[in-house]
Amino acid sequence: MNAHQQPALVIENVSVSYGHVRAVTDFNLSVNSGEVVALLGPNGAGKTTTLRAVSGLLPIQSGRVTLCGQLVSGLRPDQIARSGLLQVPEGRQVVAPLTVLENLQMAGLASKRCPPKELNAEIERIFTMFPNIARRRDVASGLLSGGEQQMLAIGRALIARPVALLLDEPSMGLSPLLTEVIYEFFALRAEVFGNVAVILAEQSRIALSVADRVCVLSKGQVVFTGLSSEFSQSLMVRAYLGVDAKASV
Ligand code: ATP
Repeated sequence: MNAHQQPALVIENVSVSYGHVRAVTDFNLSVNSGEVVALLGPNGAGKTTTLRAVSGLLPIQSGRVTLCGQLVSGLRPDQIARSGLLQVPEGRQVVAPLTVLENLQMAGLASKRCPPKELNAEIERIFTMFPNIARRRDVASGLLSGGEQQMLAIGRALIARPVALLLDEPSMGLSPLLTEVIYEFFALRAEVFGNVAVILAEQSRIALSVADRVCVLSKGQVVFTGLSSEFSQSLMVRAYLGVDAKASV
């Protein structure tokens, strides 16, 4: 990245509560275009809460989110999505009765970010990327396997030409084999994500295999942010045990 360029996505001091219960406190993270940051943490650490707050699905108690320098926190979720900040939620969300092709068409049109004239070419690009779902383009998406639905959910987000993409536990509910298949696609970084700024939330270290940097959450607080290569197993263990990992870095 050019030193004068700003990060695509900047999350500053974001705190989120459920009623009186604080779930995430002062979350800070900047992600550059073309960068993948793994957001790691155990069950209940606050990964989903953070991602949902960033994409406007949960109210932010304090802090701000900017996309390419434009303030997006405070906008409605649909406005945030149209500005180019897309989330692939936990548990994959595809429209089960619609075919694979219809799901992609719908996502492309609804986003208003892909010009209708370019939609077919964009869908073919997604199909080239994910041949597993290309073969099933006329099948109702509810009949796809978990791994195929995950690919479709990612395809639906990519077709909206995101500036930033939030992937919430794409391996959740998948067998180790299907998880491997999904991560083989993620490993084709440039082809799949291109210039998109990506946050990839996972409970396990698997996300490290494709991430440039890692951010670890424990009990709603960031306890480590650094290069994937600087990340150690002991940090992960400490995060999982709820020990203040800041003390060790
Ligand atoms: P997982 O990996 O299981 O998805 P997570 O890291 O995404 O976990 P969150 O789901 O964000 O964690 O949960 C963070 C905290 O907020 C937890 O203590 C959880 O119990 C709490 N929480 C999550 N959703 C709600 C809710 N709807 N109402 C109240 N508390 C919630």
